Amino acid sequence: MNIKSQNFDIIVAGAGMGGLSAATILAKKGYSVLLLEASHLAGGCSSSYYRKGYIFESGATTLIGFDEHQPLNELEKLVDLQIPKEPITPPMKVHLNGKQITRWKDKNRWVREVIRHFGEEKEQEQFWELIFQISDVVWKAALQNKTFPPKKLSEWFHLFRNDLSDVWILPYAFNSVKQTASEIGISNPEFYRFLDEQLMITAQAYSEETPFLFGAPALSYTNSTNYYVPGGLIEMVKVLLSRFEDLGGVFLNREAVQSIEKRNGSYHVYAGKDNTYRANVVISNLPVWNMADLTQGKIANYFSGESKKYDKAWGAFTMGIVTDDIYPEVMPIHHQIHISPEEKVMGMDSDSLFVSFSKRGDRARAKNGNRVLSVSTHSSPEPWFDPTLDYNKAKHAVEEQIKEILKDKLPRFSQAGIKLLFSSTPVSWSKWVYRKKGRVGGIPQNMSRSLLDWTPAETPFEGLFLCGDTVFPGQGIPGVTLSGINVSYRVDKYLKNLRQN
Ligand SMILES: Cc1cc2nc3c(=O)[nH]c(=O)nc-3n(C[C@H](O)[C@H](O)[C@H](O)COP(=O)(O)OP(=O)(O)OC[C@H]3O[C@@H](n4cnc5c(N)ncnc54)[C@H](O)[C@@H]3O)c2cc1C
Repeated sequence: MNIKSQNFDIIVAGAGMGGLSAATILAKKGYSVLLLEASHLAGGCSSSYYRKGYIFESGATTLIGFDEHQPLNELEKLVDLQIPKEPITPPMKVHLNGKQITRWKDKNRWVREVIRHFGEEKEQEQFWELIFQISDVVWKAALQNKTFPPKKLSEWFHLFRNDLSDVWILPYAFNSVKQTASEIGISNPEFYRFLDEQLMITAQAYSEETPFLFGAPALSYTNSTNYYVPGGLIEMVKVLLSRFEDLGGVFLNREAVQSIEKRNGSYHVYAGKDNTYRANVVISNLPVWNMADLTQGKIANYFSGESKKYDKAWGAFTMGIVTDDIYPEVMPIHHQIHISPEEKVMGMDSDSLFVSFSKRGDRARAKNGNRVLSVSTHSSPEPWFDPTLDYNKAKHAVEEQIKEILKDKLPRFSQAGIKLLFSSTPVSWSKWVYRKKGRVGGIPQNMSRSLLDWTPAETPFEGLFLCGDTVFPGQGIPGVTLSGINVSYRVDKYLKNLRQN
């Protein structure tokens, strides 16, 4: 694509949901925005890929964030857009030790379900009541405090100008989910197993490590309206991208950022094959781990320091499988399947598999009579990059083991003929979305990481901003969308000030 000018107000590096949200909001505000994406498709970890007539989800499969006070609802309003989506119910089923636990959206129905499976009626009621209350406040406060974590004195004042009646939730930043549940009196070990695996898919950490403040919205994920995007998440991305372009934004795919340098007051971004673009502002949607390699001097040192602070993150083993559609008439789209330590092989590092189906009748994704299944599990990246590993053998072993578990635990999978199967390790992920070491899903929520200790959206370098799932509060699609909203607010303020001076 020929572009008229190499000069922009803002360059956004990376078209994941974080960068795409920020770019579109800023284009709507009238700025000239260039969005550079290394891959041929936008969307990063929340996208889809096409193979042999089927559409597979790349990573994310579940979608929330459109309820009141939630980020995708806010994004739709900010850029005048409707993302195509259908509500699904029930949002999820959890298969644990022979139990089939339905995660109902309705809060009362869910609490009755949890008591039916785990007992401890009074304690469970109290626990979930607290979760729902805190979750509501967190979503509301997150949208109000666009400069959290505060960087400047004025931002601290802004924090406390907001509703002081919400301050009661702050101590829960220092109590883990496990500690809170046990203080309430919950003692059933099986319930803690349930909590751990639910938290792993939303907070990337176990109940012992996750601060209750983050755990509450994570655990009430299924009590928000959950959506399915017909045709795959790529359709959400396409609609947002086309809105960005309608607003005058310029999108270049297969145009990887190679280097970001500040010269004479503006940023020079070197990308693709010897192209240079210039802007007053750069927003990076890349993980902080990637940034030291793309910058120099003090900026590179800053990112090396930030990366060292959070040098543990998960990778994923993912599979796309096409089978005959012989599944029960009434069956949720999303399933979490618990596995025992004996069922695990190298490369399977959490105690569950997550399985999502294409919706029956979604002809764009699968031919009549077929379904596409997306399977994922946490996998530590490091062993996959070990040069002494017999990579193909290890990958095949995980594939075979996952198939065995599905045959055993996913209703009717054993009778469904497998037509196609693709799998990806952290090595594949590192080539796919260019994330260093194949680390995906963001930084695990951790008790040792203070709320104020997150990498902020505004770096110490004027005009260089960040968004995405390694920056506050990025976790999952709603989190990175919120980080995109927040960074657009900071950038707008920054550019207005720059123009005034
Ligand atoms: C297996 C898996 C399952 C998940 N399940 C869910 C789920 O069910 N629900 C949910 O909400 N979330 C889920 N998540 C998390 C969610 O997908 C991510 O947190 C989110 O999509 C990350 O968005 P991002 O914008 O921060 O980054 P990314 O999606 O990683 O986007 C970054 C973009 O930058 C591009 N890029 C990288 N380097 C360069 C460069 N040098 N130049 C230009 N472009 C570059 C990449 O190609 C990519 O498109 C899942 C993640 C994974 C991996």
